Amino acid sequence: MSQLTQSDLQSMQKRVDQYISQFEEGYFSPLTMMARFTEEVGELAREVNHRYGEKPKKDNEAENTIENELGDLLFVTLSFANSLNIDLAEAFDQSMTKIETRDKNRWTKKDIGSEKS
Ligand SMILES: [Mg+2]
Repeated sequence: MSQLTQSDLQSMQKRVDQYISQFEEGYFSPLTMMARFTEEVGELAREVNHRYGEKPKKDNEAENTIENELGDLLFVTLSFANSLNIDLAEAFDQSMTKIETRDKNRWTKKDIGSEKS
């Protein structure tokens, strides 16, 4: 794994930890984290449906973006990982290694020679 990705993810986890550590309540329990994660997935789905789907927003609904909701989901992911002492750089590396190996021949490879740069 590249040092850049590892240090970026570690600094993101540290920033979240510094934020959460200011408060007596600390991190939520795993079940509450799961509920928070699901809430944010729902909020993301709402934005995607609004942008690409058939369900328009109500007139009085605040403007929001898919970007905002992906950011919220990332924050909850970082919090969840911190609460369980999981190194996300390591978790990401394991996932990418699995995907790069398992799905190596799953998709149609681009013909690099014919690509315009
Ligand atoms: Mg949200």
